[in-house]
Amino acid sequence: MIGVVGGGIAGLSAAYRLQQGGHEVRVFEASEDLGGLAAVYETAGDPVEKFYHHLSKSEETIVELAEDLGLGGDVEWRIGENAYYVDSVVHPMDKPWEILSFPHWSLYDKFRLGMLTLDIDVRGGVPTFDTYETLSDFEDVPVEEFAREHTTQNVYETFFEPLLDAKFGDRKGDVSAAWLLGRIKFRGERDILRGEILGYLDGGFGRLLDALVEAVGRENIETGRRVTGIDTDGGAVSGLAAESDSGTERYDADSVVVATMPNVLEELTGYPCEIEFQGTVCSVVSMEESLLDTYWLNVADEAPFGALIEHTNFVEPERYGGQHLLYVARYVQSPEEEIWQQDDDAVRETWLSAIEGLFPDFDREEVNWVRTSRNPRTAPIYERGYLDMVVPYDLGEDVADGVYYAGMASAAQYPERSLNGGIVAGYEVADLIDERSAQ
Ligand SMILES: Cc1cc2nc3c(=O)[nH]c(=O)nc-3n(C[C@H](O)[C@H](O)[C@H](O)COP(=O)(O)OP(=O)(O)OC[C@H]3O[C@@H](n4cnc5c(N)ncnc54)[C@H](O)[C@@H]3O)c2cc1C
Repeated sequence: MIGVVGGGIAGLSAAYRLQQGGHEVRVFEASEDLGGLAAVYETAGDPVEKFYHHLSKSEETIVELAEDLGLGGDVEWRIGENAYYVDSVVHPMDKPWEILSFPHWSLYDKFRLGMLTLDIDVRGGVPTFDTYETLSDFEDVPVEEFAREHTTQNVYETFFEPLLDAKFGDRKGDVSAAWLLGRIKFRGERDILRGEILGYLDGGFGRLLDALVEAVGRENIETGRRVTGIDTDGGAVSGLAAESDSGTERYDADSVVVATMPNVLEELTGYPCEIEFQGTVCSVVSMEESLLDTYWLNVADEAPFGALIEHTNFVEPERYGGQHLLYVARYVQSPEEEIWQQDDDAVRETWLSAIEGLFPDFDREEVNWVRTSRNPRTAPIYERGYLDMVVPYDLGEDVADGVYYAGMASAAQYPERSLNGGIVAGYEVADLIDERSAQ
């Protein structure tokens, strides 16, 4: 039997692929619910993700998985409009004429940013087309230095810096230029007249998780069972221990796939991972009326959140019983931060009073409910030298024969962590196990 630690998308995908290769698997999930960071809330209509989710056009493995599971026709490609809040004004930032009329940039600023997004290096006045091809060339370059040199000082200060503040807070100085370049390439496709093309699954990504659970077989999945140890015998895996309310049980296993954050890998095996993670406090606010005219609003302001994401400007409110759903989120670099210390009522108050400050027409009487989720490890800090710190899929040499890793510290979750990356990591590990068992 192959034990899979973690019932998020990575663990379930690894289990699914292993079963397709004819292996016997058992998934162990510590909490009572499956899905990990992709878990959902019920609403008056379709369930909605606790943390905002969409797909990028460049992500293919998740689309193939949806097709395999009979959901291919339900992957929808929609337009996700972006805007920027600066000095009390919302600036739409999708169409060329909107970007050209952004008042905080000169024509030269727009030209430099435009060239970077087109992968053209115009430094020194002679365009070159291959500078940005190899991301690892920029692994050791600080993102700030890169953004200033490859666009302009003003573009850095009015655009990249607020985005970096929102995403990495006081750790922004550690982030590598490779991450920024990867993000520019990753987000990818736009409809020049309408905006960015992003994917969603009709009914929410919870349906993909449900279909995966069904494919793997509920009888092969244990919830409420935390893996607490991996047994080895003569340098090879022989079993694992998992605890539940009724005590600790031991299971025979010839391989174990750890599909969790790397701190759990370290607890179970001693394998140290130097990648640091940040947490997120994220609420879904259900409203009677729409707040924004855009899907994604980056907020360059002193607000306690870096972005407001109106999900129902991406997926129509009719799917949620006519309610308008707004995500309000903040990344947290330290448990000392005030928002991390606040309970649900205090978080609600923090968000709503800040929204009132930004949008004087907002009426909190229109709010139906606010639900808040917190998780201390939701995203890696993509700092310089990151790729040297990723955890290998096969830990046979580092830990013991038969130990594999498919969690968020895998190479597949770079330059941005995603559902697709989780599936790729799960598949990579399953394929390695398959190859080894065929030898
Ligand atoms: C704010 C936010 C926004 C995001 N936006 C997007 C987006 O737009 N698009 C996108 O594709 N992705 C997005 N993601 C990322 C995506 O949710 C993750 O990449 C993906 O869900 C990670 O899956 P995973 O299986 O690797 O980890 P997880 O979902 O963390 O699953 C790990 C599981 O392991 C379990 N576990 C831990 N320890 C043990 C143990 N000892 N024994 C048993 N089980 C254990 C945990 O309970 C958990 O269920 C976002 C995430 C966040 C937080």
